Amino acid sequence: MSIKVHFLNVGFGDCTIVHWPKRTRADGTGKSERIMIFDIYHSENHDEYENVVDYYKANFKNNDGSIKTIFRFVCSHPHQDHICGLAKLFNDSDINILNFWDLEHEWEPEDFEGHPTHKEDWEKYQEVRSSSDITIISTKREDTSLKYWNDEEDRIIVLSPSKELIKKAHYKEDGTKRDVKDIPIDEMSYALLIKVNSRKIILAGDGRATPVWEDIYASCKNQIKNCTILKAGHHGQEASFHEDSIKEMKPELIVFSNSEACDKEDGAEDSYLEAVPDATILKTCEYGTLIAHIPFNSDQPVVVFNSSGQQVY
Ligand SMILES: [Zn+2]
Repeated sequence: MSIKVHFLNVGFGDCTIVHWPKRTRADGTGKSERIMIFDIYHSENHDEYENVVDYYKANFKNNDGSIKTIFRFVCSHPHQDHICGLAKLFNDSDINILNFWDLEHEWEPEDFEGHPTHKEDWEKYQEVRSSSDITIISTKREDTSLKYWNDEEDRIIVLSPSKELIKKAHYKEDGTKRDVKDIPIDEMSYALLIKVNSRKIILAGDGRATPVWEDIYASCKNQIKNCTILKAGHHGQEASFHEDSIKEMKPELIVFSNSEACDKEDGAEDSYLEAVPDATILKTCEYGTLIAHIPFNSDQPVVVFNSSGQQVY
């Protein structure tokens, strides 16, 4: 039995789908399957990239043809490359979403240029986070005793944001509040660690090396140690590369979710490989959508397929 993690090829943006199968709790009672979507991005007018709603509907069907419920949608932070496509997903009458992980923040975008559906998606985001039809969860590292991530549940550890990172994003060094549009919302982005028995998967979000990874390294050094898969921070760009953390994580596999152009311009492949020479880097811009199978039994290897079903790792 494996957890499947789908890293969708969406260009310069993020969309990761984690699929926990039906599993058995420690007390022997069954536990139903769960699906989590971490961010969404849809490039308009780019057929080479995945249409997330179509992908979801094609790949997450129940036996009776209905579409599987999304247990948890995590919005790492509401920048356009992490929320565009949100309105389409949440407005789709075939798709049901139970929990929405949001951040406690006051940020607002400067403008809606750069993506044709940004305004619509931002408005949907605002509507969802104040809705009573969905369970809103705003959490941070210091809250980890909640039931959502204990051993009987999905074993999710919040690495970021911390109280300190939320404060740093909202207040200047002199203690005065930042203007809402000046809040560096990516510097309090969610970074999650998911445990699969002895293995760890880290979804790094968009936080930069300073202050986010310095903060994670200082407080979670032992937790991040020896991970199996790292979804690289900030689309695999140099901005998020933190040498000490990478050496501690020592990932077997590193996934970049990026477009070819941005990867060429700012990708940190060389830095990663210098820090962890044994790691394998897989990029969505090179392989397309990647589906990693992480067995619960650590004697079995992790394997990765592309969307045509060919094994690429
Ligand atoms: Zn981003």
